[in-house]
Amino acid sequence: MMVVMREGATEEQVEHVIDRLEKAGLGAHLSRGQFKTVIGVIGEREAISKVPLEALPGVESIIPIQKPYKFVSREFQGEDTVIDVGGHLIGGDNFAVIAGPCSVETEAQMKLAARKVKEAGATFLRGGAFKPRTSPYSFQGLGESGLKMLATARAETGLPIVTELLDVRDVDIVCEYADVIQIGTRNMQNFILLLEAGRTGKPIVLKRGFGSTVDELLMAAEYVVKGGSTQIILCERGIRTFEKATRNTLDLSMIPIVKKLSHLPVIVDPSHATGKNELVPPMSLAALAAGADGLMIEVHPNPEEAWCDGPQSLDLPAFAELMAMIKPIAAVLGKKI
Ligand code: PEP
Ligand code: MN
Repeated sequence: MMVVMREGATEEQVEHVIDRLEKAGLGAHLSRGQFKTVIGVIGEREAISKVPLEALPGVESIIPIQKPYKFVSREFQGEDTVIDVGGHLIGGDNFAVIAGPCSVETEAQMKLAARKVKEAGATFLRGGAFKPRTSPYSFQGLGESGLKMLATARAETGLPIVTELLDVRDVDIVCEYADVIQIGTRNMQNFILLLEAGRTGKPIVLKRGFGSTVDELLMAAEYVVKGGSTQIILCERGIRTFEKATRNTLDLSMIPIVKKLSHLPVIVDPSHATGKNELVPPMSLAALAAGADGLMIEVHPNPEEAWCDGPQSLDLPAFAELMAMIKPIAAVLGKKI
């Protein structure tokens, strides 16, 4: 629900509404337009109904949001959300490129990957230290020592780190190192994890569940907001269909759909979507053309020897070549890298 304040409502009146909402245990999100101030209310219907919003001084009207997600909807906020991670921007006119290996393996691998992806123009470094593997016998990630390697690579390159949080028990340790927390496809509807990730207040990359609809993705994002973080980047990473030619089916149409429904930035991961390195460049360009706010690409110094997801990883020259194609197209589309 949104509380629309009268034109010329005073600062005290706005603060009074926020105060009443907060006292009722509700979240209030302030948005100041040129003429009017709107306060978005986050919380359960019953708690909202107990606050006599219409009667508060300065309130013009109350607009209910019909969708099952509220904060993340375009109705709630018309302008695009732009997320600032230490000066690296995601959303609006910015095009973010998150690149790096699937999993952190060694310090040398991370340092080399970080240096080279930065040289090519990547704006964030990725690497998993906690890996959600389909088989319990596959490599599960290095844990904290992997996070330390990521931190070393960040110290050398200045690239912020995007890394996955798999389990509520690891929130503190992942938070200590990560600039952006990734929630993977398998956990998109792990609601307790979403709340805990939100509670950290950090930016969150929320990957679409491989069996989830756009509405379910947006409701998952709403859980992160309920937890406490509004800095959410949605990520299309392919969904499961009958098609076996690719690992998943990349749903590029979700980009303009989500952009219409939500103000949150949307990025695309063509690596997990296709499972094949030769499909990563064309699908990256297609995502850019379709209006994505960025890409997440798996890049490995030696894909043949990768401990995880080698076949879908670009090697360092292939990534540099792709970036050389992306840059002029992004410029034509008015996107800054
Ligand atoms: C990953 O990014 O390494 C990953 C495991 O992705 P997803 O959750 O999309 O499979
Ligand atoms: Mn991977």
